[in-house]
Amino acid sequence: MAEQRRADIVDNLNNVRAAMKNAGTPQQTRLVAVSKYKPADDLLYAYEDGQRHFGENYVQELVEKSTQLPKDIQWHFIGHLQSNKAKAVVGIPNLYVVETVDSVKKANTLNKACDGLRPDPLKVYVQVNTSDEDVKSGVAPKDVVSVCKHIMESCPRLDLSGLMTIGMFGRDPNAENPDFLCLAECKKQVEEALPEKQLELSMGMSEDYVNAMRAGSTNVRVGRTIFGARPPKPTKD
Ligand SMILES: *Cc1c(COP(=O)(O)O)cnc(C)c1O
Repeated sequence: MAEQRRADIVDNLNNVRAAMKNAGTPQQTRLVAVSKYKPADDLLYAYEDGQRHFGENYVQELVEKSTQLPKDIQWHFIGHLQSNKAKAVVGIPNLYVVETVDSVKKANTLNKACDGLRPDPLKVYVQVNTSDEDVKSGVAPKDVVSVCKHIMESCPRLDLSGLMTIGMFGRDPNAENPDFLCLAECKKQVEEALPEKQLELSMGMSEDYVNAMRAGSTNVRVGRTIFGARPPKPTKD
């Protein structure tokens, strides 16, 4: 059972790696294995095949896995962050980035939470609501520059390093994706306003990571294609 599970995950992982390589895009793109709801063993199978970047959505789950699993894993927090859990997240020594800074307030909370807990500034991405959907978190595209400026100028414990979007579900994975274009345009605007900055683009998931790479993604977040279907979303974090 366990060996079959391992074989499946390693197989899926290598298929994703091959597809990323075959995309032939000029930029380097990091694969983040999104492992929410999946048992620690599943992550370990991927880890033992060389995977180091993992993405988690829930604080409790991330904290537990980070204590159980190897310390050279690079964790990406990609869920909605509640203020009262900020310290628990930034206290994870091998937390690589928080991808979901979706307001000035959230940035301030994280900046404060880092005090005394991290030797170096914490990498953050600003989440952008590129599809303008009420149900999605994220900064409106028109406000991205000002939020990025705020982080640069007023959050010394944060290291602004990218922009992230989820985008609208169900878009054609073979056509130009307006969410990806929008995020790339936001990056351009931020880099014009803050010339010292080079931002990453975190976009693309199981259905459309190759398409996202063609639009400039440097960080794809792939879950189901590696680990298989997930149980339905629980109602509480
Ligand atoms: C769950 C999740 C993913 C991965 O989605 P898949 O469709 O399983 O690849 C990527 N990004 C975020 C923010 C997620 O919550």
